[in-house]
Amino acid sequence: MSSQQPYSFFHSVEKSFDKAAQFTKWEKGLLEQIKACNSIYSMRFPVKMDDGRIEVIEAYRVQHSQHKTPCKGGIRFSNEVNQDEVMALAALMTYKCAIVNVPFGGGKGGIRINPRSFSAYELEKITRRYTSELVKKNFIGPGIDVPAPDYGTGEREMAWIVDTYQSLKPGEIDAAGCVTGKPVSQGGVRGRKEATGLGVFFGIREVCSMPEVMQRLGLTIGVEGKRVIVQGLGNVGYHSAKFFREHGSKIIAIAEYEGAIYNEAGLNEEEVFQHRKATGSILNFPGATNLAKSTDALETECDILIPAALENVINGENAPRVKAKIIGEAANGPLTPEADEVFASKGILVVPDMYLNAGGVTVSYFEWLKNLSHVRYGRMEKRFTENLNTHILDQIEGLTGKSVSDSERKFIKHGPEEVDLVHSGLEETMITATREIMEIWKANPAIPDMRTAAYVCAINKVGTSYTELGIFP
Ligand code: NAD
Repeated sequence: MSSQQPYSFFHSVEKSFDKAAQFTKWEKGLLEQIKACNSIYSMRFPVKMDDGRIEVIEAYRVQHSQHKTPCKGGIRFSNEVNQDEVMALAALMTYKCAIVNVPFGGGKGGIRINPRSFSAYELEKITRRYTSELVKKNFIGPGIDVPAPDYGTGEREMAWIVDTYQSLKPGEIDAAGCVTGKPVSQGGVRGRKEATGLGVFFGIREVCSMPEVMQRLGLTIGVEGKRVIVQGLGNVGYHSAKFFREHGSKIIAIAEYEGAIYNEAGLNEEEVFQHRKATGSILNFPGATNLAKSTDALETECDILIPAALENVINGENAPRVKAKIIGEAANGPLTPEADEVFASKGILVVPDMYLNAGGVTVSYFEWLKNLSHVRYGRMEKRFTENLNTHILDQIEGLTGKSVSDSERKFIKHGPEEVDLVHSGLEETMITATREIMEIWKANPAIPDMRTAAYVCAINKVGTSYTELGIFP
């Protein structure tokens, strides 16, 4: 790209892809196919505003790859939405799904609006009209393309989408699977809210359990006692901090946009959250020191740094001052390519966003499966398991003449609830993905970083899938 051309997010994804592709065995034409965006639906539709004006809405849905169907990816409501951005995000979804073995192609949607400038009724009309445009062009459906929440959208919008879809497709038995991230009462799954933060924890915990990696970084094995800094106390940052703290790590600093706080003895994310709610800021938290600037937290000495706020927060300028040993990219794109180079040369491990924050899409996959099976997870086996466990315990106690404590009895008896199964499925997914990426990296020491290894992992899986489909005999 010449310097005259505007920045293209899609082009930068292609660049990362090309960097990784050289470590794969695939033929050039196949690599071109994996990279390409298969279908792009750009639309304009009119919506009557509350004051009677008609506004023309610009919107997109991109299906990057159909090597597996349905396609999957969120819908973003933002003033920054444009075709290039939606294409890039759809491509990243293809690679993300491949890495975590979620059997979907990549997709993404976007509506170019600032949701805060519209009333709830106007947003509902926009969302419903967008859905009906997708239905008309066959761009949505449980076996075609399944959207989810993204920036600016949430459960409310997903409920409007499923309702519109169902009204246009009466009698379609699997209609609830046309979108994920729905409220539980509308077919959503328990455990979705904390999924991304929990996935971040599982991914990094797995990295920390690898003796050779920890030795290289000069760290002890395990997350216990690790000093962690989190940027952004939103959904992902809050839950990441919670799971690290609950497993014995110390959250020594938290950064928000208004500032950062530090306490070597450790911070409790829930208490900080409540303090922020009460005072409007995380600053002046009892027992903690305020840091001069919010970004100082990124440069404070620690074992694990978790940027969970925005993109491009660590760049070529501040990367040399970062002192963390591990950086877990919970946010999408928090590091620039220049920062990557700094960390690769300093031996700092960057655990890449493309797979580390895949907890959301993984649990979306579980929601879709739940919708297709029309039954809540755990409903069939919970009581059976509890009865069986109780029976086994009674037998053991009877035979040994000893009894376990009440809390142990409760733990052993427990049959799985929906949330237990969702968490355990997510744990399995993140552990497997981490090991696969690390194996690829270990097998080829010329691969410069874990991000490139993750891309190699994705390219190999999508390439295998295309080849097995017989498209490229
Ligand atoms: P969120 O809006 O709930 O939280 C973001 C937090 O970051 C907010 O509390 C905000 O005040 C804070 N913040 C904003 N600017 C900041 C700054 N300059 N310094 C410090 N803090 C700042 O959003 P989220 O859902 O937690 O998403 C965070 C990131 O994770 C985004 O990059 C998002 O794309 C990515 N992500 C989210 C999910 C998900 O399931 N929510 C899944 C994958 C990736």
